Amino acid sequence: MTLPHRRAGGLSLPVVSLGLWQNFGESTPFADQRRLVLHAVDRGVVHLDLANNYGPPPFAAEESVGRMLSTDLPRDELVITTKAGYRAWPGPYGEHGSRKYLLASLDESLRRLRTDRVDVFYSHRFDPDTPLEETLGALQSAVRSGKAIYAGISSYSADRTVAALAVARAIGLPLAVHQPAYSMMNRWVERPGTDGRSLLDVAAGAGMAVVAFSPLGQGLLSSRYLHGIPDDSRAARGGPLRPEWLTDEVLDHVRALAGIAGAAGRTLPQLALAWVLRDPRVTSVLVGARTTDQLDENLTAATAPPLDDDELAAIEPHAVEAGINLWGSRSSDL
Ligand code: NAP
Repeated sequence: MTLPHRRAGGLSLPVVSLGLWQNFGESTPFADQRRLVLHAVDRGVVHLDLANNYGPPPFAAEESVGRMLSTDLPRDELVITTKAGYRAWPGPYGEHGSRKYLLASLDESLRRLRTDRVDVFYSHRFDPDTPLEETLGALQSAVRSGKAIYAGISSYSADRTVAALAVARAIGLPLAVHQPAYSMMNRWVERPGTDGRSLLDVAAGAGMAVVAFSPLGQGLLSSRYLHGIPDDSRAARGGPLRPEWLTDEVLDHVRALAGIAGAAGRTLPQLALAWVLRDPRVTSVLVGARTTDQLDENLTAATAPPLDDDELAAIEPHAVEAGINLWGSRSSDL
C-alpha cells in the first residue's frame, strides 16, 4: 500500500511518518514492536524516525530496528533517520553538538541499526557551546563519508536556522530537513524570528523539508485524557507528557476541539493531524503510536478531506499554546 507523499529538500516522504521515541524500549516486548513497525511499513509508512536516545532507555529503539532490518525490513525502500544531541554517555563528549560526539554517535547508531548508512542524520538540538561551523562540519563529514545521505537539524529556532543555513551554504552542505515540534497546542514554528520570518518561512524559503514531531501533543490531542489519566497512557507511565500539563484550561480546549472534530465526522487525532498538514510547508507529520489501532486511526489523516474554512475558523480560538513545549529552550524561546 502507498500513502500520499510530499517532496521537499530532495526527500519524498509519506505525509504520515512513524517515530520510535517512546514505545520501542525495554518495557515493550520485541514482538509487539516488530508487529507495529511491520504494520506501519505495510501501510506505506516508509519513513521511520529514530535517535540514539530513543527507547527508553537510550539505544533500545535502534537495537530493535537493527534486529528488524537484519530479517524483515526492506532497507532500501525505507527512509531511516537518526539523530545525536541529547545525553548518550557520560562526559562532555556524550551529548550536544561537538564533532567528536556527533560522529562517534553516528558510528554507534549504524552498528546498532545494522546498516551502512542512515538516510538522514540530524543535529538533535542546537548547542550553544559549540560553533555552528563545527556541528555542521560534522554533518557534512557524515554525508561525505556516505554514512548519511542527507543532513538535518531539529528544534533549532528560526534565528538559529537562518544562521545554520548560512554556515551550511558556506561549506557546501545541503540542509535537507528541519524537525520541529508542531501541533494545535504548540505553535512556536509560526512565530516570527528577529527578521520577521517564522521557522516555517525560513525552512520553506530554503527548500527544506519540515517533519513535524509530536503532532498529537504526545497524545493530549485525543480523547484519552478527557476523563482522567488512563493507566496505560504516557502521562501515567512517568513519560515526557507531564500530568501537571493537563490543566482544566488545557482540557477545556481539548474538549472543544473534540466537539469540532465530532461535528465534522472526524476523530480528534484525525483533526489534529489534518490541521498540521493544512500547511503545505509541512512535509510530514511524525506520529508516535503505541498500538496498531492508534496508527491506523492516524493514517486516516493521510487521505481525509482537508479542513474547510469553517473548521479552521472554529479551531483557531482553541489551538492555543498549552505549555507543553519540552524543547522550548532550544526552539521557541530563542
Ligand atoms: P504524538 O503522535 O504527538 O504522540 C504519540 C502518543 O499519543 C502515543 O504514544 C499515544 O500515547 C498517543 N496516541 C497516538 N495516536 C493516538 C490515537 N490515534 N488515539 C489516541 N492516542 C494516540 O507523537 P510523539 O510520540 O510525541 O512524537 C512522535 C515522534 O516525533 C517521536 O517518536 C520522535 O520520532 C519524534 N520526536 C522528535 C523530537 C525531537 O527532539 N526531534 C522530540 C519528540 C519526538 P499513549 O502511549 O499514551 O497511548
